[in-house]
Amino acid sequence: MKAPAKSSGSSSPAVSTPAPSPAADPGRKPGEREGLELFSRLAEHEHEQVSAYYDPSIGYRGLIAIHSTVLGPALGGTRFWSYPSDAAALVDCLRLARGMTYKAAVAGLNLGGGKSVIIGDNRTTGREALFRAHGRHIESLKGRYITAEDVGTSTSDMEYIKAETNHVTGLVGTSGDPSPVTAYGVYRGIKACARYRYGSDSLAGKSVALQGCGSVGYHLAKLLYAEGAVITCSDIDPQRVKRVVEECGAKAVASDAIYDVRASIFAPCALGAVINDDTVQRLHVDIVAGAANNQLAEDRHGDLLERRGITYAPDYVINGGGLINVNAELHGWAPERARSKAGEIYDTLLRVFEIAREEGCPSHQAADRLAEQRIAAIAKVRRNFV
Ligand code: NAD
Repeated sequence: MKAPAKSSGSSSPAVSTPAPSPAADPGRKPGEREGLELFSRLAEHEHEQVSAYYDPSIGYRGLIAIHSTVLGPALGGTRFWSYPSDAAALVDCLRLARGMTYKAAVAGLNLGGGKSVIIGDNRTTGREALFRAHGRHIESLKGRYITAEDVGTSTSDMEYIKAETNHVTGLVGTSGDPSPVTAYGVYRGIKACARYRYGSDSLAGKSVALQGCGSVGYHLAKLLYAEGAVITCSDIDPQRVKRVVEECGAKAVASDAIYDVRASIFAPCALGAVINDDTVQRLHVDIVAGAANNQLAEDRHGDLLERRGITYAPDYVINGGGLINVNAELHGWAPERARSKAGEIYDTLLRVFEIAREEGCPSHQAADRLAEQRIAAIAKVRRNFV
């Protein structure tokens, strides 16, 4: 994807990277000191901007990565995590921001991709100053980046951010729990996979191995059960398994046994990297389609699924309902409109499978191409001054 290059214009104070001295360090390019390789990392995934903000008086160290604003303001959550190094934090932030661009693009939303990280121990109780500093950092970008909750943050943290900027979503009393919308999008996506694979999108009598009976997994199980699917489920939390067993007639298996269940569909709704060297050979299913983020441990595992004849619904396409829910909050959509937009995941996935067939590539690559096509088309539309 060709996002227009912009200067890495942090408007924030106080990142004091010493200017490289060509005489002392002739072999290194700017930004390569201390192994951070800032600009080469930005170039690698064609990011527009990274902003760093440091306030030692309260221990705030924050990064905001803006991957692309071609489609709209960059949206992505704030991750609060104790990274082993600044470079690790930067790489995570860049990678997650890029993922958000692709997720918004295939969901048909007018949003770009961004992400932020606060580096530190997320169990800290001194949250107000930290998150207000983060809010000021976000405010300094004047709406180019909008934040939301992510790992290590909560709705009350978003309230602190809100004290300093309006560019924040996921506040108490707004769009609420996204998991019902996400689950509905995943359900529609599973139906699209069934149509592609079996010629009919009916799930009656189809067997589903469901990994994770949490917020999304539970709502998904209800939808599948209502349509007559037969569910086998696992979760490390016995209470969550019990609920799906009792309410959806599911059979429970031990956590690790879920990969060996012979079923039509494997629906990962728990962790990332569950399609890996170990599990990819164990799966005896026709379809992998679920809510979990980053299901493929590496891209090559998507290629392996393809080689094994397993239809894979790319995770960021099928789980876009959560982002659609945030977008609904930003634009004041009624809940029915958000649900209906999530239902469009059905058609998007069929288009992904069509591209995969036309171009002879695995579905995870086809999804990237679909996202890139939309971004390139809109970049062209917007090239003139109006
Ligand atoms: P959740 O925390 O409510 O549920 C996850 C469940 O997985 C928990 O019940 C947990 O006990 C279980 N689990 C953890 N390890 C497990 C294991 N080894 N085997 C089986 N179960 C295990 O989270 P959620 O909101 O339901 O999200 C599920 C997945 O979907 C996550 O990967 C999340 O990133 C992704 N996702 C969620 C949304 C959303 O709207 N909530 C949107 C997009 C993507």
